[in-house]
Amino acid sequence: MSKVMGSSRRALGALAAVAGLVGVVMVLPGAQDPPWTSGIDWPKPEVIDPGSLGGPPSDAIVLFDGKDLSQWNGAEKWTVQDGHAVCGGNLATKRAFGDCQLHVEWASPAQVKGSSQARGNSGVYLMGFYEIQILDSYDNETYHDGQAASVYKQRPPLVNVCRKPGEWQSYDIIFRAPRFDEQGKLVRPAYVTLLHNGVLVQDHFELLGRSAYRRPPQYAPHEPKLPLHLQFHGCPVRFRNVWIRELPDDDGENLLAPLRAKLNGRSSKP
Ligand code: MG
Repeated sequence: MSKVMGSSRRALGALAAVAGLVGVVMVLPGAQDPPWTSGIDWPKPEVIDPGSLGGPPSDAIVLFDGKDLSQWNGAEKWTVQDGHAVCGGNLATKRAFGDCQLHVEWASPAQVKGSSQARGNSGVYLMGFYEIQILDSYDNETYHDGQAASVYKQRPPLVNVCRKPGEWQSYDIIFRAPRFDEQGKLVRPAYVTLLHNGVLVQDHFELLGRSAYRRPPQYAPHEPKLPLHLQFHGCPVRFRNVWIRELPDDDGENLLAPLRAKLNGRSSKP
């Protein structure tokens, strides 16, 4: 390239840059407008300590910290050793819970016995009625809506992210309890979101009713809060690091309602 041509290109480039800048300034819409705010008077989010990775945040209720099962009924048949508890009977929390975030770590037996539903079967029974299946689903075929991380007999997990037998696995569950009116009519179904080993496997799934083996799921009215159960299905499944956070009713939607109505009524043209 000649020297003359090179300097001409540089000059043109500089001109284009200036024109571009001017253009940007000229086309910026509403550059002088104040920033938009929603106008909603949001309450200040509470400050909590997240704790260690996987451990309980400061506002959690610790249900099992590896030492004892004093938070549970039915623990007589369980064994606590080496920081974990071995399943030996159905277990139910002494406290009752409704809407919650629940963290559970579990491990199916390292020694593989049985197949399908007879291998490493247990379960997290939310409110004692709604089962998130625990099963050794590593290279173990069974019906899809009965494998690990399924909502039992209602919805298979989005993926099978089960670890090998004997390895520790985590469930992080976000549960919204069903709502019944005073006549016992269902006014809002239950919803569950589940992360298995950190992977999303149930995404705000609307439950069809109580879990059952020999009949379809169906709702029946119950109290707003009930104990959480861990199922015994004849398998020595191990548990550790179990904690729960009670979730308040989400009033965010009420606060957002006027803004939603305003935005929905707005023309789609900018
Ligand atoms: Mg089960």
